[in-house]
Amino acid sequence: MAMRIAIVGLGKIARDQHLPVITASPDFELVAIASRSAGLPELPHYESIEALLASDVAVDAVSLCQPPQVRYDAAKAAIIAGKHVFLEKPPGATLSEVEALADLARAHGVSLFASWHSRYASGVETAKAWIAARTLRSVSVEWKEDVRVWHPGQTWIWEAGGLGVFDPGINALSIVTHILPRPFFLLDGTLNFPSNCQSAIAADLSFRDEAGVPIHAVFDFLQTGPQTWDIRVEAEDGELLLSKGGSVLTIDGVVQDTAPEAEYRGLYDRFAALVADGASDVDVAPLRHVADAYLRGQRVMVEPFVE
Ligand code: NAP
Repeated sequence: MAMRIAIVGLGKIARDQHLPVITASPDFELVAIASRSAGLPELPHYESIEALLASDVAVDAVSLCQPPQVRYDAAKAAIIAGKHVFLEKPPGATLSEVEALADLARAHGVSLFASWHSRYASGVETAKAWIAARTLRSVSVEWKEDVRVWHPGQTWIWEAGGLGVFDPGINALSIVTHILPRPFFLLDGTLNFPSNCQSAIAADLSFRDEAGVPIHAVFDFLQTGPQTWDIRVEAEDGELLLSKGGSVLTIDGVVQDTAPEAEYRGLYDRFAALVADGASDVDVAPLRHVADAYLRGQRVMVEPFVE
């Protein structure tokens, strides 16, 4: 029987990805929406998750698609009500709250999935296998996009806990933490803060892994023209480039065959498998690197951001 699921926070990512993927999946049946200001004509609509959970609509699971600052309370309410929970990325606004949710899910016997959609980009698993067989020299990440194009009106991104340029940057970190063979640590970094914002608009980060391999990452929210979502890995005997957010893989200058984009289908397949197995998947490594950058990076005040 399909899992009855509700979407919480019917905004951009819910409409772009969650709705079409859930609708097409044999594992899920969309039964309700909980969102303050938006619903779908054919489905029951509640203005909050609390109202949904108090209603007589039978729900097995929820997908939480609001901004990270409000996700903990929603996740806690759902878990206590015995629902399985799919968390959009980032899984929360702090590491501690995500770890508390993982404990709560365990105590209540429900599945918690901290999703990282970029890990399901079509070049990622082949890149991981290529890297595993090699001695690495360096890794370079360039994640540069135009916030005015991709995040119009999203004031939450600029507030504390909204992550700023790390909202896309954490996608790069989710790939790098998945494909590299060893943990890595921040050595030094610079974060640019617009004088009217609580989160960074650009970052330049230098890491090193446990074997001394340098990893450099540059995130920029003010890139106009062509957009860049690249990860370059230099090994002793070759070079790999994951571009377009991980969907295009080039090895030693040759573009590899990859499957069509299906990041969110991969996420929902994984969520269904976790629930079937009675398991959770809560990897906080990408969020930990963001926290480290905000802890360890030097702060530079830059001109105000005006959308
Ligand atoms: P969004 O459209 O700005 O927000 C999603 C919805 O959350 C809004 O439509 C709003 O619905 C609700 N919401 C907004 N602020 C809220 C608040 N303070 N309290 C409660 N609900 C609030 O954002 P989004 O782009 O979909 O991103 C949501 C999450 O998905 C973020 O964590 C983001 O990193 C992640 N994500 C986004 C993308 C993307 O391409 N945009 C891609 C992957 C992942 P109501 O007003 O109806 O409540």
